[in-house]
Amino acid sequence: MQSQQNSRHYDYLVVGAGLFGSVVTYRALKAGKRVKVIDRRNHTGGNLYCEECDGVAIHRYGPHIFHTSDKDVWQWVNSIVEFEPYINSPIANYNGKLYNLPFNMNTFVQLWGISSPEQAEAKINEQRAELGVEQPQNLEQQAISLVGTDIYHTLIKGYTEKQWGRKCTELPADIIRRLPVRFTFDNNYFNDRYQGIPRGGYNTFIDKLLEGADIELGCDFFDNRDYYTSIADKIVYTGELDRYFDYQLGPLEYRTVTFEDERIEKSNYQGVAVMNFTDSATPYTRIIEHRHFDRHCTAKHTIISREYPAEWNKASEPYYPIGDSRNSALADGYRALAKKCSNVIFGGRLAEYRYYDMHQIVKRALEVEL
Ligand code: UDP
Repeated sequence: MQSQQNSRHYDYLVVGAGLFGSVVTYRALKAGKRVKVIDRRNHTGGNLYCEECDGVAIHRYGPHIFHTSDKDVWQWVNSIVEFEPYINSPIANYNGKLYNLPFNMNTFVQLWGISSPEQAEAKINEQRAELGVEQPQNLEQQAISLVGTDIYHTLIKGYTEKQWGRKCTELPADIIRRLPVRFTFDNNYFNDRYQGIPRGGYNTFIDKLLEGADIELGCDFFDNRDYYTSIADKIVYTGELDRYFDYQLGPLEYRTVTFEDERIEKSNYQGVAVMNFTDSATPYTRIIEHRHFDRHCTAKHTIISREYPAEWNKASEPYYPIGDSRNSALADGYRALAKKCSNVIFGGRLAEYRYYDMHQIVKRALEVEL
């Protein structure tokens, strides 16, 4: 418990030093405000945090590649630290056979041995017609209507059901609409105009955003809520939305992931930063080989992380909001409560319970009224 007499008063208390909290902190500091940032972890950066291991930067909470089509957002992040060009081109591994992602002409050739876009379109149209659905109601129907049954069974079903722990028929269609489908030989996972990774890594980026703030790590807002609330005029809250309201409408569900690291004494293990295991038998969804995010990495060893998704519980880290009907309705209820809190800004994946990408978080954090 901190002494109230000794503490400074702040304009903002930022709860959570992740991307949203850090961008808002930067803006508030630029505006001459006094800002205190707290985080329950013992580091800043939230899920962007990287851990250094003898010259290899480990994306500790999963791979992060910044991408956006918004020129203002891109210029803004580059004004903080220059971004190195990086194109995300993950590989899918289905029972040992490799396919390019996202779904594009390379994938179609690997799967069907066809040789033209017309042939690929004909295959997909034929399989889509078998579905006989005009308006896809769930992820399975959406996936088949986008790419047909072969791709659905080889590259989508196993991966998705492992990732979300739910049947594709119980998941919302929009999750799969995140992925491009192209009839060109283009393995760029994103359609966005700009893509990259901060030079010097995400920790450098976050450190620059937080420069000048009072930072306290390893402390949970909820362990001392009254005290923390008393030290600032406004709160920027980036933790779980339901927790802020003491779960009064019922608990929201999240998906978590855990990572199993392995150090290998060679410089190249799988030839790509991200390999997705799309069959249902492999227990993990991905292997991340971190050094490939940095083409300047000169380490002689490599570090891989196997990623295992799991249902979230209070002892684990919440990663993904779940967009099914129960959770969406519950989140609407909590968002309505949040709107009534005039001195609290709720932002980020957890506090808004939205499946945001980084560029969307930055945009919101730049636009939010301080
Ligand atoms: N997906 C899939 N197979 C893959 C990669 C992704 O079926 O090899 C599906 C899966 O349902 C996932 C969704 O596409 O939840 C969105 O994937 P994305 O890579 O955007 O998820 P992220 O890891 O960025 O949250």
